[in-house]
Amino acid sequence: MTKIIQLPEDLINKIAAGEVIERPASVVKELVENSIDAGATFIEVEIKNAGKHLIRVTDNGLGMSFEDAKLSLVRHATSKIRTADDLHNIRTLGFRGEALASIAAVSHFVLTTKVRESLSGFRIVCSGGVVQTEQEAGTSDGTTIEIHDLFFNTPVRKKFLKSDASEIGHIVDIITHYALVNPKISFRCVNDGNAILQTDGQGDLLGVVAAVYGRNVVKELVPVHAESDGFSISGFVSKPTFSRGDKSQQHFFVNGRAVKNAVLDAAMHEAYHSTLFIHRHPFAVLLLDVEPQIVDVNIHPTKKEVKFEKSDVIYRFVYHAVRDVLQNENLIPVQSFQGPDASALRSSLPSSSSLSSSSLFQKPFDTTSQAALQSAVHSPALEVRSHGEKVPQMKLLGQVQKTFFIAEAEDGLLIIDQHIVQERVFYERFMTQYLSTAVKTQALLEPAVFDSSPAEAALIRHYLSEFEKFGFAVEEFGTSHFLIRSVPSIFGKVQAADVVRDLVHQFEESKRNSVVSLAEAVITRMACRASVKAGDTFSNQEMQQWLYELEKCTLAYHCPHGRPIFIKITADELEKMFLRV
Ligand code: ADP
Ligand code: MG
Repeated sequence: MTKIIQLPEDLINKIAAGEVIERPASVVKELVENSIDAGATFIEVEIKNAGKHLIRVTDNGLGMSFEDAKLSLVRHATSKIRTADDLHNIRTLGFRGEALASIAAVSHFVLTTKVRESLSGFRIVCSGGVVQTEQEAGTSDGTTIEIHDLFFNTPVRKKFLKSDASEIGHIVDIITHYALVNPKISFRCVNDGNAILQTDGQGDLLGVVAAVYGRNVVKELVPVHAESDGFSISGFVSKPTFSRGDKSQQHFFVNGRAVKNAVLDAAMHEAYHSTLFIHRHPFAVLLLDVEPQIVDVNIHPTKKEVKFEKSDVIYRFVYHAVRDVLQNENLIPVQSFQGPDASALRSSLPSSSSLSSSSLFQKPFDTTSQAALQSAVHSPALEVRSHGEKVPQMKLLGQVQKTFFIAEAEDGLLIIDQHIVQERVFYERFMTQYLSTAVKTQALLEPAVFDSSPAEAALIRHYLSEFEKFGFAVEEFGTSHFLIRSVPSIFGKVQAADVVRDLVHQFEESKRNSVVSLAEAVITRMACRASVKAGDTFSNQEMQQWLYELEKCTLAYHCPHGRPIFIKITADELEKMFLRV
């Protein structure tokens, strides 16, 4: 029989390191968290060979006394909690007291630290978790921790490290997270001697976003701010016109800790519902503050994931905070024109006295345009007085190119895409019907016939019940024909067969997606189809009616794909264009 033995401390630490320290970025995370907990206002992370050879984190925080420095390397030694009760009230990033012990177990480790009150500091050198030397050392206030040859004694772990580029990516992600949530701390990351990230610590979140993602991103953001009993949220999200192909630029923080959490993901997704193309994701930096009692940060060894006690409440809170911003923010893009060089243009113009004789102005109106002018003058402009904040107050002036509505707004000129107005209205009406499984249908007097290819036939058979939910009664008729007996009534007169063909392709394309995103794709497509294309003449009353319908929509600034409905040219811009300023 084998005999049970108690494992030695350094082996326990090595095993624990396997859980917490996966890669250089995990070390960076733990060390940066410690620096933040120590109240640092400057944190520098220096790496060589993507952190495989060296990671050095220097801070100007509280530092440690000699006694504390020695204890800090002992497993389960922490200054951050004292009793089990403290676990429910955690405001620091660390509390498990095992990071330093774990990191030291799998590296050559040098800790140098000094508290302000002391004249000199201390240095402790460890190798594989075993202390080699401890001595006084001259150093500045704060703490520097150096990790050389990470995983030197765990070759398997070392072998699984990814390319330098990928490991650096992980490190930068970590630093980015902490920089975003700590705008008052100046972060600097130096890779093989080059500064790759630097924030100024001035306390301005947008400044940090600009430092990390560039000024252009900042222009696309709108602020979020909301409070309710026990929660608050602040930060920025992107306008729907600015989106990314993945969620890597969505940052959530709960009480200062970067987290992944399905509830927050879902709330965000739902808030942008129908404003973005499928598989596009907004940019977000959202900082959530909640009572520590309702969030469990102790469900994951690296504390990346958290669990909320009242997840439905949090979901609704975040959803509304973001959705409200998207609905209320003035999301109308303002068109800016690169004005011509005013002086150059002026000098090329004829002098004002010669203007009146210029042939340009002598050309008589032809009679048709004169008639058009007359009718424009006599049909009074219609006022669209909106009660909400979505559709701006405007005076409708008319239609251009049978494609756009033109209106005067308080501070300029509005151009409205009629197709997109209708698309938005149809989309929302239809979505409401679909979600309450109450799609209104109209029977076709004469069923439309759809001739399908064998592949299309297979798809239609497969999705027959889906077609039904969308309001299409389709039945098989012979080998490669289908009869369409009803269509959703929202669409009025449509070429039923064309729409069905469209849907078949949509089903085909979205085959691998969830039913919800499929429905979304299909409805977006149908709304687009049902809306007039360019080329339909609208009377002023009709235009007005459509704008009233738009006002009733939840999101009135974008088509379901995220294209803008309104574009504004401000009076200022017009003045500039006419060289009045
Ligand atoms: P935890 O952060 O969970 O307490 P760690 O192993 O990361 O555990 O750190 C152990 C202790 O060492 C901390 O509680 C803290 O008192 C001290 N410590 C670690 N890093 C620093 C630092 N950069 N500045 C000051 N104290 C530190
Ligand atoms: Mg820690």
